[in-house]
Amino acid sequence: MKVYLSLDEPTGNFWIDNGLVELISRFGEGEHEVEEVRQGLLKELVRKTGKLGRYYDESAKQVKEYEKVNWAYPVNTFIRVSGKPAPKITIAGEEYPTAPPVFDLKLNPTGRGRCTFCGAEGPTEPSKQWIFPFLVTPDKFANFYPGLRGAARVCPRCALAGLAGYLGWLYRAQGGEVLHIFVFHSHDLRFLKELRDTVLQPLKLKYTDKGFNFPTAFAGPYIHETLLGLLLWLFAQLQRQDLGELSDAGKELLRSILGELPPIPSELKLYGISGQPGKRFNMGSFEEFSRFQELYRLYRDWLAALTTRWPQEDQVRLVNHIWDQFYQRRERGTETIWRERIARDLLGFGDFFPYVEQFLYEVRAKESPPRPLSKGSEEVFGIYAKGVLGMKEELNHKLKGFGHTLGRTAQKEGEMGLLYSLRNAKSLEEFYRVLNDIQFRLEMTIPEELLGLEGEKIMGLPWSMVKTHLSIYAMNAYLRAARPQEGRMKGEGEGGGSDG
Ligand SMILES: [Zn+2]
Repeated sequence: MKVYLSLDEPTGNFWIDNGLVELISRFGEGEHEVEEVRQGLLKELVRKTGKLGRYYDESAKQVKEYEKVNWAYPVNTFIRVSGKPAPKITIAGEEYPTAPPVFDLKLNPTGRGRCTFCGAEGPTEPSKQWIFPFLVTPDKFANFYPGLRGAARVCPRCALAGLAGYLGWLYRAQGGEVLHIFVFHSHDLRFLKELRDTVLQPLKLKYTDKGFNFPTAFAGPYIHETLLGLLLWLFAQLQRQDLGELSDAGKELLRSILGELPPIPSELKLYGISGQPGKRFNMGSFEEFSRFQELYRLYRDWLAALTTRWPQEDQVRLVNHIWDQFYQRRERGTETIWRERIARDLLGFGDFFPYVEQFLYEVRAKESPPRPLSKGSEEVFGIYAKGVLGMKEELNHKLKGFGHTLGRTAQKEGEMGLLYSLRNAKSLEEFYRVLNDIQFRLEMTIPEELLGLEGEKIMGLPWSMVKTHLSIYAMNAYLRAARPQEGRMKGEGEGGGSDG
């Protein structure tokens, strides 16, 4: 039986298309024997375990050792077929298999029908988990990915592509409890192959036991934080000369994907899937990201703003650290839920500031010693508030100035409670009541602009957003002022603190 592989015949399914690209990278376009391709893939999917086994070689009439193998991690989360043992024989009272076990996955396209993935009519068989890993929870998956409902059937070409998909994926395991999978997809397979060859493959690590095959700026148990970590790491490839991992062709392709160089190639999506590897992969989330250019434009603005203030610093590191910082070390591991929520809203170009506020008041302010946000956070957030949320520069400037004075004064006067009252204000009336208290107790003048209402808006923004930004600036200044003297020596400035 033969299959025909062509970059001109995408299926539209992200997993199968990626597998096709992997197949063509290995075997080339054109007609191929199914058996030859299948054997070639199996070889790449098993790994030596480092253990030795023994079997009885009947032709040599002696016991021999062999190196045990198993499905490579974490492919073994999805391929649950174990090695087939050989018949046993008893020699000198001991039982031996007559050959090492065979790790095999058989295709059996004996039925006829329509392939769920590519629509081809012909020999097909019911799809299995090792062909399409997300078929494990079909009902759940159909909600995420409506292309697949009910039982799937698969043709030999798509079955081989499905198996090859494991060679092209990006994955990141977190503590054995969570497995994140990332797959880029485009309907243009030539573009997808170029992305694989010039960008992804050079960055991918060899299969290792480290629990991941792709570096990220940071990663955690949740999908969005890890997705953001991956994107930041990709972005950094175009900024840091010292990384030096991508060829000029790779950088050029990445530049055009990120909108820095014309022409912008075909549409690209990045899928992120997360679940618990266990007996069966239990998918928890399925995300799709495609706003690469918008995010990269912001990223460049962040770098530019940081360069103005801290020309001697490594700006890439600063940006990574700003998004990384929203976690809390606990006795048992690290809680990253704030980072996850902020990353989720950032990737959706939404308002993540309520989580920054929550993090400052609930985590940072209660740490010992308390720490302000990392250096450059306020600059980067200001750019986001202006560019994405529509905050006027003038308002940001007012809030920053007033917020900083408020924070410093509250710290000096021992009035942290006032900041919590501000943070907790649930209505416009309450907000004004707190401002009134601040005026009275700290003898501060409230900027007029904050008092000029248009409906429930202050300078074009809902009052609650204004309140959130003010309370972030104030608490950040409070925490900066409250730091022990020693820690304040370096990186001190009104615009951002340093937590070292
Ligand atoms: Zn097919």
